[in-house]
Order: sequence, then structure tokens, then C-alpha cells
Amino acid sequence: MTLWFKRLRYHQRMRHVHASRIVAVGIAGALCLAFACQSGGPPEVRAERVVMVSYDSLGADLAWQWISDPTVSSPDGLAGMAQEGFSAERLRMVDPTLTAVNHISLAAGRNAAGTGVVSNSFHRQDTPITEWVSGFNASSDAETLWTAARRNGLRVGTLAWPGADAGALDRVGDFGVVWPGPPLARSELVEFDPEVAETTGEVPSNDGLAPLLWRLRFDLSSATPSNQELLIALVDADPNGRPRYDAVAVRLADEDDWGYVGEMEWVPVEFEARAEGDLRSHLYGAWCKVLHIDRFTGALRFYRGEINRLHAYPDAFEDRLTEAIGPWPGEPDRAVADWWLDLAQGIDLDTFIEQGERLDRYFDRMTEWVLAEEDADLLLAYHSSLDVYQHASLITEDLQWAYSPGRALAASEGLKRMGRSIDRSVASLWRALEPERDALVVVSDHGQIPIFEVVRPNRALADAGLVRVVEEDGRARVAPDTPMVAVTGGAFLHLYLNLAGREPGGVVTMAEAPELLRRAARVLADLEAEGRPAVEKIYTRGEAASVGLDHPSSGDLVVFLTPGFAADGGLDGPVLEPSRYYGQHGFLASHDEVCGVLFARGAGIKKKRFGEAEATSVAPMIARWLGFEFGDVPESKKGR
Ligand SMILES: [Zn+2]
Repeated sequence: MTLWFKRLRYHQRMRHVHASRIVAVGIAGALCLAFACQSGGPPEVRAERVVMVSYDSLGADLAWQWISDPTVSSPDGLAGMAQEGFSAERLRMVDPTLTAVNHISLAAGRNAAGTGVVSNSFHRQDTPITEWVSGFNASSDAETLWTAARRNGLRVGTLAWPGADAGALDRVGDFGVVWPGPPLARSELVEFDPEVAETTGEVPSNDGLAPLLWRLRFDLSSATPSNQELLIALVDADPNGRPRYDAVAVRLADEDDWGYVGEMEWVPVEFEARAEGDLRSHLYGAWCKVLHIDRFTGALRFYRGEINRLHAYPDAFEDRLTEAIGPWPGEPDRAVADWWLDLAQGIDLDTFIEQGERLDRYFDRMTEWVLAEEDADLLLAYHSSLDVYQHASLITEDLQWAYSPGRALAASEGLKRMGRSIDRSVASLWRALEPERDALVVVSDHGQIPIFEVVRPNRALADAGLVRVVEEDGRARVAPDTPMVAVTGGAFLHLYLNLAGREPGGVVTMAEAPELLRRAARVLADLEAEGRPAVEKIYTRGEAASVGLDHPSSGDLVVFLTPGFAADGGLDGPVLEPSRYYGQHGFLASHDEVCGVLFARGAGIKKKRFGEAEATSVAPMIARWLGFEFGDVPESKKGR
């Protein structure tokens, strides 16, 4: 009944906007247990709409540091949430501290043993040992917030929330955006040579310099059309009497309008295409940038961005949203992010950060548009930019391959800039809501820890004769009859035995299993670099209950690496080598550095600050705010 009234209130509000503060009902006792709190549990409120947004890799310590620096100070942003709303000092995540795992746990209110999403990538028993599933495309064993809310008559939108991939009926809201697959075409960096340029009369140029024209054709593989061509003209746009190339004009070969940009400026390119297997064409886009103009010789360095589109459901929603906010702009481009090693290679740090900021603004416009245009009670929104940035650029320690004091400073300034972008996002969401009735919940899935070394457990186990390898197309692969395999995610791995009677084609008998696991554990425990052991903790399946990983999909050994190390599941390359990227997660959730954040504001929420909250307490809290029971309902409350 509560729900029916709630819906009615909401729709009344849509017609007559008038204040009707909903009186809080206290069930503080149960909440206090969930929060292990010092001061009476989170607030009991009734919210008409809740927006929960996750900023991937926003560590609790990092967020509070930004608030106190203050890197962030907007009264509508994180500082405002801490000042006016309720907040946890830290959100203790579930193990392992990986993205798919914790987004499902945030949405389902259970640890990994409860959801069955035990890593970003894992093996399921009763399937061949070489068959793995992605945690981003796996259904939770426990009901998620989006499914429970819909069952209770609420309207839910999932905006790129990891795990809500629309791949099954229990992985959709009423509408939503799903994470796009690979781009239709990868990005490229092109050095245009004035010696081979054509010219054109279509664009004006001054001071006696004829335009230099190049054609950049890029392949769209099996899409229709199968390629596109960009015309890129370098001109002297400034009639100041000095012949200097200073602007670039860009157009698609089959369109008429030129777009003009200067050095270090971005130019968007958009066109319709139908990818292989798609039933209709979609609007694709690429953000391109003029990286360098040699004003005298006319040499041009040009970045042609990835070709992407928005993936959303249902189709009509996708069309309206694409019309409103344009095609998916892509993530910061790690494929060309080599600047920490060689400043002459790839894109520069500014370009990478600008891509992150652009993605943040895109997600913000998406959520704002949905709040204005869709009748939604619950929105689950997601930002990945901070995660991508820290993986590439968390440079703080002199053990790290690319470390120098100057690079560490540049990396830290870049991180602050990403922090201001996240803060701008929080502020824009807050301003899009109605504080008296709506609640904004800001969470994250983990923090990151600097790494200096990559370890390849399968290589180590293969060298010890415990993983069997075959050559396939000139590359080493794990053989179907291997005794075991490590399936890695970040700084974590499941080690699965290929057990006869459990895995189809299994080769290890129950009698052989204990000794094989002992040998594997010894190999892993012996790995070290710079005098530090690579492995922090190894659990057997039986012991894994203590870290919430006692699930049939968990490994026979569950292995957490030591902060500083990251795992690579591949066989190519040495067992240990310096890492060429710098931040990682997946470490034991007991490390404070990998704690996430929890802030909430609005809907009558009073200022309150907690010590620590559990990631699994977030979903039941939001359900209560929206007026429905969720998860384990205490016996005393059943039947009400
Ligand atoms: Zn993450």
C-alpha cells in the first residue's frame, strides 16, 4: 500500500508542485546494525526520486582529502554533500575490490558470495576450464535494487551502471544506457606531411598561403558504409600580413560544411552508419583534435578519435537520448596513452584529461535530460573517467617505472583536475533535483592503490608444470586439459582446478587436488619483487567465507596480491616485470585505501557523519527511502 501512495504522490507532484514533506518513520535499530554506527544510523527519509551515482575508483581518503584541501569547494558538490547531508568516513567494499563485483553488491545488498559475481572475470563450475564469464554480463544470485524497485511498481533507469547490461531480463530497468562494446573504429594519430598535400579552393587562406589538403580515410570494417573519409585542410586564417598556418578546416567527404579549429582544439565528426548485425543505422561520432601545427612548414599532427555510438534501450529512448546529447564520446583513450614513458608518443596528458572531462559532462547531460524528460523514481548512474585516469596515472612512488618527481607532480595535478570534474558532476546532478523531495546518493566501488610490478600467475604456474600450455596461432594458451588455471582481475585471482567430475573434461582427481593446491600456493607465495612478496593472502575455498567469497564460482584458491602488485592473466611475457600502468584495485577490502565513498543529500536528510558503512547497506537504505522492503526482511516485519 505504501507504494501505491508513493506513486500517487509523485504523480500529483507532477501536476501541482507543492511542498508536502514526507514524515520519516524510524526503524533505527535495524539500521544501526547495518551501519555499525556510533550515532544512530542513517536518516529515515522518504524520497520521491533517488539518483544514485557511482564515480568509479573514488577512494574515500581521496574524496575527503579533496574536500579538506580544498580541491573541491562547490556548495553543490562533494563539499556541500559533506556539509549539508550525511556521509560516511569510509564505505567498506566487498571482496574482491573490483568494479563488476562491487557495483552488483551496491545494487543487491550482498557480498560476492551472495551475488555470485565473484570477480570481473570468473569460471563457473560444470563448464570447461577454459570457459570464463564476465562479471559485467552476469546475473546476480540475489535480487538487485533495479529489479526489486520495478517489482514494487517504481520506474527505474540504469545509466551505464555496471552489471545492468540489458543482457537478461534481470539486468534491465524500464529504460537505460548500457556500456558500449568496442568502438566501430579505433583511434589513430596521423602526421600529415606538407610535401604530399593537395590543395582546395573551398576554404579561404590568407597572406599568400594556399590551403594544404589531406584526405584521411578510415575503415569501418563490415559496417555500412564500410569506410568514411575526412578532408582536412590547413590554412592561414588570420589576414595579418604574416604567412603562418594557424587553423584547420575539417569535413566529411560526403558533406558540405567545414568545421574550423585551431591548435589544441577539438572538432566533432558525426555520421550515420549501420554496424554488422544491427537492424538499423545509428548516429556515430568521433572527437578529433589538432595536436600540433607547424606554422611555417605546414606539418600537422592530428588525432582522429574512436568511432562510437550510444547504446541504450528501448530503441525509442536511445533515439531521443542520442538526439538530445549526441553519440557516446568514448573514454580517455588508453590505447595511445604512452606519455609517461615517452612524451613524444601518443596523446598528451591534457588531451587524456579533456577526454575524461568530456565523458563526465556527457554523463551529466544524460542524467539531467533523463530527470527532465523521463518519469523515473530511481536512477542508477555511473562515471568511469576517474578509474581510467588512475589506472594510467597514479604515479606517487619512486619504485614505479615512469616515476620522476616532475611526473609525479604532473600526475597529481591531473588527478586534482579529475577531482574537480567529478565535483562539477555532483553539483550538476544536485541542481537537477528538487532538494525537498529527491535524494542524491554518491557512492563508489573502490579506491586505487599505486602499483609498480605486474605478476603473471599463469606463467609462474606453467613454469612450475602446474598449468599446461598449448601453442595456438603462434601464441601460448592454456590447454583444455590443464590441471589448473588462474583467472585474474586487477590485483586478485581465482585459481581453479580442472577437477574430474566437476569441470567437463576435468583431469584432476579428488585425491590429487590437495597436493596440487599446496604446490600452486607455494609457487604463488614465493613470487617477489623489490624484496616484497607479490601475494598478500591465499584462501582455500573453505576459508574464503571469511572474505565473503564462499561461492561455487570461486576458485579452489582465492588469492589477493600485495599493494604495489597487479596480476596479468596472460602467458606472454615474464613472470614479473615493472608495470607500465600505475594504479590498480582488487586488493583486500580491509585496506582503507580501497574503501569507497557514501554521501547523501536531499529529501529531508539532516547533516550527519558516520565512521564506516558497509557497501551492502546501501541498497536496503535506498529501498527504504523509496518505500519498499528489500533483501532479508526480518521475520518480525514479514506480512506487514
Ligand atoms: Zn571500478
